[in-house]
Amino acid sequence: MFFSSTDSEKKGKEVKSNLYYFAENQMLDCNQYIIKDPNTGDLALFDAGNGISLKGLFKGMEKFNLNPSNITKVFLTHEHVDHVLGLYPLMKLSKSNPIEIFAYGETAEILTGGDESRIFPGNFGMNPKMFGVEIIPLEVTDLINIKEIKISSEYKFQIYYTPGHSLGSISYYDSDKKILIPGDLVFTGGSFGRYDFPGGSLNTLINSIKYVNNLDVEYLLPGHMGISDKGNQQIAFSYKMIQSISFF
Ligand SMILES: [Zn+2]
Repeated sequence: MFFSSTDSEKKGKEVKSNLYYFAENQMLDCNQYIIKDPNTGDLALFDAGNGISLKGLFKGMEKFNLNPSNITKVFLTHEHVDHVLGLYPLMKLSKSNPIEIFAYGETAEILTGGDESRIFPGNFGMNPKMFGVEIIPLEVTDLINIKEIKISSEYKFQIYYTPGHSLGSISYYDSDKKILIPGDLVFTGGSFGRYDFPGGSLNTLINSIKYVNNLDVEYLLPGHMGISDKGNQQIAFSYKMIQSISFF
């Protein structure tokens, strides 16, 4: 494997009742979120991480009495390696009890196809071996025709297509709880997703940020960096920043 410290713990925090945040812990990893269904004990995981960090996630989960074998669903925000590679070791571990994977459009298509060159596009000098994963075709439910997903009696999310960072980028929004899981669309501290990867576009990114800027958001739970309970303020800040770098 290319990256080291495979089992350093991902630090967790209960953001809200039965909703947990696990912070990215190394190069090319991502934040992950877990929602526990209080009735069934089932766990829904948002984003899979880079694969190397999976052990660290499991370690972090222990502290909250969250059992990895109770993960029944994985919801992805987009197709990038730091968000999806964890699926491969995760699916191996759960062979007897397969986990349902949900993703949107391009992301679902890429994962279903299992074509290595689409998961590692262009020449970024990365390959599956660096992450200790083997790319195989996965069964994925495409969220393209699904407007809303119910996770538990406490949480349900609307699916919004928010491209610009990538073609398969979506945001999960719980309007009752005012939670936004935007993947790499907007971050805290005025940051926003890169638009120079394949399928990225600055104008599209601006439009997507404009869209989520109109939502009522308390908890902003992005794919990288910190989280915030002043969501609207943070999104407005990022929207202002991205407008200031675009020329029109
Ligand atoms: Zn990304």
